[in-house]
Amino acid sequence: MALAFPFDPVQRSQEVEGLVMSGRKRRYYKFRAAPYYGGITTADAVGCSFLCACCRNYSRNENPSSCGRLYSPEEVARDLIGLARWHS
Ligand code: SF4
Repeated sequence: MALAFPFDPVQRSQEVEGLVMSGRKRRYYKFRAAPYYGGITTADAVGCSFLCACCRNYSRNENPSSCGRLYSPEEVARDLIGLARWHS
């Protein structure tokens, strides 16, 4: 039995990519530390190819270009490492 989507997932992925990527940069809306597993840092990216009704990021996924900002991979690594050092 084939899984049926109410949209074309490949087309939507391409549309979302166009909204949250610019060259090597990707859109993120939050960097955070949490105590789980003895201490973690997380970069919350914007944009998902699905629109699950239960998603806590539903509004962000509806309009992913309206929140956060673009970060290069180096900026993401710098912020995650900085957070990890701050909380260690
Ligand atoms: S729950 Fe949210 S983040 Fe997860 S697949 Fe669904 S829309 Fe994407």
